[in-house]
Amino acid sequence: MKKLFLVANWKEHKTLSEAHQFMISFLGNDLLSYLAKNVSVDRKIILCPSFILLPELAGLLHEFHLSGKIKLGAQNISPYPDGPHTGEVSARQIAEFASYVIIGHSERRREYNESDEILEKKVSAALEQNITPIFCVSDKDEFIPSGVTLVAYEPVDAIGTGSPDDPKSAQAVASYIKEKKHIHYVLYGGSVTSRNVDLYIQQPDIDGVLVGGASLDPVEFSQIIQNANPLL
Ligand code: PEP
Repeated sequence: MKKLFLVANWKEHKTLSEAHQFMISFLGNDLLSYLAKNVSVDRKIILCPSFILLPELAGLLHEFHLSGKIKLGAQNISPYPDGPHTGEVSARQIAEFASYVIIGHSERRREYNESDEILEKKVSAALEQNITPIFCVSDKDEFIPSGVTLVAYEPVDAIGTGSPDDPKSAQAVASYIKEKKHIHYVLYGGSVTSRNVDLYIQQPDIDGVLVGGASLDPVEFSQIIQNANPLL
């Protein structure tokens, strides 16, 4: 069955009460009946909030019996195991709530000088705790640590600019990464909305989308999920 990854990257947004309101609206609109009816695609819906929101969202998903349908991801991870690393959150701590983690986002590479060496350590730390890295690259030849199976191709100029990449060129990069780097799944990220998501999802080598700005609005993110219909 075709797998489709629909990932929300909330970045440094939402307080506890805003996250709660998002969930009530997100789960309350047509999404759940859409998912119940459209079972020919295995949709992996993954919400990646700030660390402080993970326990609240995990609790809500459990309460609504949706822990199997909607997964959580962290936006960062410590490269070190539990120990004296002030301000860090370890893979073991994250694993209590999340099964995915975004690693190598261009904002972290740029603002925190994350090197290939650090990113490799983060990937190993995640994998040791059975957390799946969503490894971001902004170029087809960017280094990808071993063990990564899920890559998000995010051209820097497309992130948060309202100028998404051309779907055909995103497809060419996705195909290259799969073939040359032996990656199973490639997502596209950069100014995805409910109006353009289909253009990416219908490319043969694009297995989903990583959504920033448009994932903050529950109605819009739900619409992105419902408009993401791959050619089967
Ligand atoms: C992102 O930051 O990963 C991203 C894709 O952001 P946006 O959707 O806002 O371009």
